[in-house]
Amino acid sequence: MTHIPDQRLEALPRQRAWVEIDLGALAHNVTQLRGLLEPTTDLLAVVKADAYGHGAIGVAQTALQAGATWLGVATVTEGIELRRAGINAPILLLGAVHTPPEIQAIAQWQIQPTLCTPKQALLFSETLADGGRSVSVHLKLDTGMARLGAPWTEAVEFVQWVQHLPHLKIASVYSHFATADELDQTMLWEQKRRFDQAIAALQHQGITPPRLHLANSAATLVDPSLHYDMVRTGLAIYGLYPAPHFQDKVNLRPVLQVKARISQVRTIEAGMGVSYGHRFVAQMPTQVATVAIGYADGVPRLLSNQMAVLIRGQKVPQIGTVTMDQLMVDVSSLGSVEPGEVVTLLGRSGSLVIPVEDWSTAIGTIPWEILCGFKHRLPRLTSPSNNALERHVS
Ligand SMILES: *Cc1c(COP(=O)(O)O)cnc(C)c1O
Repeated sequence: MTHIPDQRLEALPRQRAWVEIDLGALAHNVTQLRGLLEPTTDLLAVVKADAYGHGAIGVAQTALQAGATWLGVATVTEGIELRRAGINAPILLLGAVHTPPEIQAIAQWQIQPTLCTPKQALLFSETLADGGRSVSVHLKLDTGMARLGAPWTEAVEFVQWVQHLPHLKIASVYSHFATADELDQTMLWEQKRRFDQAIAALQHQGITPPRLHLANSAATLVDPSLHYDMVRTGLAIYGLYPAPHFQDKVNLRPVLQVKARISQVRTIEAGMGVSYGHRFVAQMPTQVATVAIGYADGVPRLLSNQMAVLIRGQKVPQIGTVTMDQLMVDVSSLGSVEPGEVVTLLGRSGSLVIPVEDWSTAIGTIPWEILCGFKHRLPRLTSPSNNALERHVS
């Protein structure tokens, strides 16, 4: 892990740019999502990719306090990071691993792997024979995503194969949706039909998996019949909707904000260009503020000339090419602006909000990708509640 460790908000005045994480909002989101589930249905909080850029340990601890019972990671290293922090909850490794050192680490740290093929299961069983240890495994069926998993039509052979291998205990059978966030639900229900068909075939052989799960955030919001024994929610716990048509399904609050400081202010003449390539040319005398954040911090360069920021509760346009460490904004409308002032790139300032979706829509990507971009250089300032944030930042 290369990111700077999470800091308290008191550290704020020293930063050039930072991410603010409101763990109170995270707890709210988990509570709201839990409210959609039957009491016996588990909520797995997906904390892969350093909790979508929010900080895996703080998110995991808060999610567990708020009612999550499982955690999901993409890599063995991510799982070990949680265990090293003293987190004891069951951890599902969503990725598939194939190397003996990783398999031994999984056993040592009690991470629960995903198995996708009979060959991979055999490798696990043989590798574990060395230390005599057993692991709980989750068998993945491919019902239409074509990413990981055994074909759903081969569920019986796959499950029976794993049942007979020593050192492996089947903890669940699961699958993953390809189109749950889309308005057209045809493929979603077809995937559910395939999953149910596979489970029925297992039951016909007298096999009842201890746990079934299928839903990501979008599917969790689509219909309770998709919840099975557990849902695996990522995006929604971070307060974002998988698509606009989910907004009336549950009340979510964004957890992450991105802020930076003004580093210089100057007025340029009409006709002068701004930043690399002069992709912005002033049409009139323009007051330009330089902001100490850039694409190396996770502000996509593709947003150049296509984004706005909030300063003193007012929206002002970004101008010119976003550079690696800095970007410029047109603050002509604001009167005097001083170096050191706080700029909100994502989040709230006064009564205005810039949501992550503004960025993802502008550059033709999804909110997930924007969030994951903030994991490198920005210190993360965490706060247990919204109120505490307002107090420290204003
Ligand atoms: C990332 C992931 C999720 C979470 O998806 P969201 O859309 O962010 O809720 C769930 N299941 C699997 C297998 C994943 O890889």
